[in-house]
Amino acid sequence: MEKIKMSTPLVEMDGDEMTRVIWSMIKDELLNPFIELNTEYYDLGLKYRDETNDQVTVDAANAIKKYKVGVKCATITPNAARVKEYDLKEMYKSPNGTIRAILDGTVFRAPIIVEPVKPYVRSWKKPITIARHAYGDIYKDVEMKIEGKGKCELVFTGEDGTEQRELIHNFNGNGVVMGMHNLNKSIESFARSCFNFGLDTKQDVWFATKDTISKKYDHTFKDIFQEIFDAEYKEKFDAAGIEYFYTLIDDVVARVVKSEGGMIWACKNYDGDVMSDMVATAFGSLAMMTSVLVSPEGNYEYEAAHGTVQRHYYKHLKGEETSTNSIATIFAWSGALRKRGELDNNDALVNFSDKLEKASIKTIEDGIMTKDLALIAVHDNITTVNTFDFIKEIRKTLEAML
Ligand code: NAP
Ligand code: MG
Repeated sequence: MEKIKMSTPLVEMDGDEMTRVIWSMIKDELLNPFIELNTEYYDLGLKYRDETNDQVTVDAANAIKKYKVGVKCATITPNAARVKEYDLKEMYKSPNGTIRAILDGTVFRAPIIVEPVKPYVRSWKKPITIARHAYGDIYKDVEMKIEGKGKCELVFTGEDGTEQRELIHNFNGNGVVMGMHNLNKSIESFARSCFNFGLDTKQDVWFATKDTISKKYDHTFKDIFQEIFDAEYKEKFDAAGIEYFYTLIDDVVARVVKSEGGMIWACKNYDGDVMSDMVATAFGSLAMMTSVLVSPEGNYEYEAAHGTVQRHYYKHLKGEETSTNSIATIFAWSGALRKRGELDNNDALVNFSDKLEKASIKTIEDGIMTKDLALIAVHDNITTVNTFDFIKEIRKTLEAML
């Protein structure tokens, strides 16, 4: 078979620990034999981030702006222990945070569904994609502890000196207060990312806030979504046969649980934080969760939702056998390659991406899986394999399909 060619590169961002080990094996076994991979490589491994004072992360993000598609391996977000372990010059920020700040995007997380792993919620048949607004609210709040009696107010002072004032509370004793904000511009780009991704993946978009209680703050989210939808997306959604649906946050939770899935659930920052963990767990395994950052300009960055699987890496370093699940990382590659193919009208590449995903799922449905899945799968004939044999088994399934 002739190898598939790629006219435009995609941005490849290598990472850390066990996922870095998996990364190179996926390329060797599942990509390079079939594709003349055309990537612009950035090493986001912690060692090289430190050597470049983290400039490599900024360069990679700018490259995604240039080529529109990137694929990223999980990376270490340094904490005090990592600074010591890697003898770092400083405690660098999370690479995902840096990239997101440059691309200004929304992260969409979706589970990969396989027959033997049953969601805890019986009605769920299709993936539920969570879109989390990644700016503001309590994540950028200011807080105060109040001691004793006194008046707490919200004050806005305009550039011209005019003041706007609201009483928060007349305190009669100890308590707490919090001030938080968001920006129309950020909410607008969140809305556009969600609507674009809905069109992209042909799925309904659901959004919810508590606008009945929060008549200015949450209501602004509701209004911005509706205005943008009506002005820019209504016709496109009609043509695609998909819907935008708004309701209250408590109502949406009930509806999601009763649904069969298959929608994009747009969440405010805090709701997304909480609900993404709930949805991931309810679908079975963090190792089966994909993640894609979509910017309002239409740039895409694909990755696995899990981290670098440090515990397995230390076993691997000691020469012990590991059984790390590579599915989410494989799907990061297939997602990026498919998007590259779609943008370049490269049908062979799109086709290959579909087959790679089908082969990965079929391997598991045939009973061959890593330990994390074997523990929760319902299947008559399970073979638990190690990290490397799992990828080799997927290759066998893939070769039989091509
Ligand atoms: P993690 O890498 O997601 O792993 C946590 C645990 O989940 C693992 O120990 C393992 O459980 C299970 N697990 C996760 N992925 C798995 C897979 N593919 N196959 C099998 N089991 C899997 O989280 P962490 O250990 O808390 O974080 C490690 C590093 O990752 C940290 O330095 C953190 O900064 C980084 N991180 C990066 C990203 C990112 O780049 N997007 C995201 C999150 C965390 P068992 O040990 O029970 O087998
Ligand atoms: Mg969370």
